[in-house]
Amino acid sequence: MASGLELVRAAKRLAAQGLMPGTTGNLSIRTHVGMLVTPSGMNWDLLEPQDLIEMGLDGERRRGQRTPTTEWRLHGGLYAARPELEAIVHTHSRFATVISCLRESIPAVHYMIALTGRPKIPCARYETYGTQELATATVESLGAGKATLLANHGQVAASFSLEDAVKVAIEVENLAFTWWHARSAGAPVILDDAEISRVQKQFESYGQNRRR
Ligand SMILES: [Zn+2]
Repeated sequence: MASGLELVRAAKRLAAQGLMPGTTGNLSIRTHVGMLVTPSGMNWDLLEPQDLIEMGLDGERRRGQRTPTTEWRLHGGLYAARPELEAIVHTHSRFATVISCLRESIPAVHYMIALTGRPKIPCARYETYGTQELATATVESLGAGKATLLANHGQVAASFSLEDAVKVAIEVENLAFTWWHARSAGAPVILDDAEISRVQKQFESYGQNRRR
């Protein structure tokens, strides 16, 4: 289980890489009472572990003085629906948001899409930010995968570890960038499902990323 300090470091890392413009985006990790979430509308440069809020998945406050992210329902809904999830990253990263405004999924334009657990990144239907409806739409679109776009909004990455959720969020942005530019330049060739399954199997034994 990741710590509050690791959550703060992950947020600053994503902000430094340009994935969370302004005060947008929010992160969480699962805890034994529910989840630890980032505060609403806070400058990422100033974020410290004591600014985090621990709450039940139903929103009941346990610890922390700050106002929690307006998207706590989305985080709580995903943890409730997927018991194996340990961390969630939500960003308005630029190219993922561009594709989300087209309300299209991102196909297997590059083999790295295998990191998201599926051969495409779907797009959840539009719902107003911060609502239970958006939480429900996100749960449905994420399904058993690790990433989804949110229509006219951004992206969500969720995984069995904070490190992996951050990695997936960065890759979703890379894939959106690649898809946008390849499509703008011509007609990209899309990899088939069998190839993405093959890549997923190779990832299981790749480098330092082996899942214990
Ligand atoms: Zn958002």
